[in-house]
Amino acid sequence: MTKTMLSDRILRMQESATIKMAKMARKLAAEGHDVISLSLGEPDFDTPKHIKDAAKKALDDGFTKYTPVPGLVELRQAICNKFKRDNNLDFDLSQIVVSNGAKQSIANLSLALLNEGDEVIVLAPFWVSYYEIIRLGGGVPVVLHSGVEDDYKVSAEAIEEAITNRTKLIIFSSPCNPSGSVYSYDELKAIAGVVERHKNVHIISDEIYEYINFDEKHVSIGTFESVKDRTITINGFSKGFAMTGWRLGYMGAPEWIAQACAKMQGQFTSGANAFGQKAAAYALEADMAPTNVMREAFLKRRDLVINGLKEIPGFIVNYPKGAFYVFPDVSAHFGKVIDGFEIENSADFAEYLLQKAHVAIVAGSAFGCEGCIRLSYAAAEETLIEAVKRIKEAVLKLG
Ligand code: PMP
Ligand code: GLU
Repeated sequence: MTKTMLSDRILRMQESATIKMAKMARKLAAEGHDVISLSLGEPDFDTPKHIKDAAKKALDDGFTKYTPVPGLVELRQAICNKFKRDNNLDFDLSQIVVSNGAKQSIANLSLALLNEGDEVIVLAPFWVSYYEIIRLGGGVPVVLHSGVEDDYKVSAEAIEEAITNRTKLIIFSSPCNPSGSVYSYDELKAIAGVVERHKNVHIISDEIYEYINFDEKHVSIGTFESVKDRTITINGFSKGFAMTGWRLGYMGAPEWIAQACAKMQGQFTSGANAFGQKAAAYALEADMAPTNVMREAFLKRRDLVINGLKEIPGFIVNYPKGAFYVFPDVSAHFGKVIDGFEIENSADFAEYLLQKAHVAIVAGSAFGCEGCIRLSYAAAEETLIEAVKRIKEAVLKLG
C-alpha cells in the first residue's frame, strides 16, 4: 500500500524524538561505531529484585488473566495509600485508573477530555509526547516558553495571560523532563491561584519523577484546596522503580474523569498486565531503599555532568533539582559551519554530536525549547565522563 493510504491523523503526527534518537544511536552502534546514547530517558538500573520476585510469585499464583479495566483493586488501593502517604492527596478506588504506562494515562485524558479546537496550555520545556498526544485528541497545544534564565519554569502570570475561554487543560511535569527543574511550593501555589479563577480549566500534573527529587519534599499541586477537584495527578513505576519495560502508570482524578478514561481504555487495551500489577502494588508498600540508592547515584552523576558541561564554551547550564536530565542552552553555537556542515539549530547540533562525537542526545526543539539540547545522565559514571569529554572535543572544533 502506498503512503497515501495512511490517515491524515498519522501523517500529521511527528515521531517521538526521544525514541527516534535512541533508534539512530542503536543503528550506528550496530554498524560498529562506539556510540554513547544519552538520548532515552530511562534508568540504567535493573528493577529491584524484591519487585521482580513479587511478579514471579504472582505468575505462579495464577495472575495471568484479564484484570478490571482501571486496575486490580489491590493495586488501586495501594495507589490510594501512596497518594495519601506521600502526597497528602485523598482519592478513593473509583478515582484511580492504572494504564500501560503514564504515557497511556495522558493519552486517555486527551482522548476523553478534548474536543476539536480545545486549547491546552503546555509549560515549556515539555516532555515530547504531550504535544502530539494533545493534537491526536483534537486539541491545540498553547506552548508557554521559559529558558535557562527562568530556571526553565513558567510563571503563574504568564499562565494567566494565556488562558482563554477555549482553555481546557494545563499540563506540565515537575520534576520536569527535560529540564530537571522542580516547581517550588510557592510557584505551584501561585499557579493554583490562577487556575482557581478559571473554573473550566483542569490541571494535568505529571509527577512521574517524584522520587528523583534531590532537594525538596515533593509537592503535588492537587493538595491546594482550590484546585483539588480540578487536578489530575499522573504517576507511574518507570522512573522511581526502574520499571520502564513493565509499562505501568496511573492517574488519580476526579471520578467523572477517571470513569471516562476507563471507558476509553476499555476499548483500546483493557486492564494492564495482571502479574505486573501485583508486583507494582507490592512495590508501593515495600522498602524504598533501592529507590533511594538510585536517587543518590543520580545526584552524584548530575554533579559530575554539570561540572563537566560548565567547562564547555558556549554551554549555559542551570542546576536541575530532579529527574535525570540536563538541558544546556547551546544556542551560542548556532550559525557555525564545520566541514561544510552548518549548525543552524538544536537538531543540527544533535546530529553533529551524533556523527562527530558519537554521542546521542535529543534536540531541544522536541521539547519546545530550540536553543537547548537534552542529555540523560542515567548512565554509568565512566560513560558520562567519556561522553562529556567527547562533546567538549567536538564543540571545541567549532571554535
Ligand atoms: N511523563 C514524563 C514526564 C516522562 O518523562 C515519561 C517517560 N517516558 C512519561 C510520562 C511516560 O512514562 P511511562 O509511559 O513509561 O510510564
Ligand atoms: N520519558 C523518556 C524520555 O523522555 C522515555 C522515552 C519516551 O517514552 O519518550 O526519553
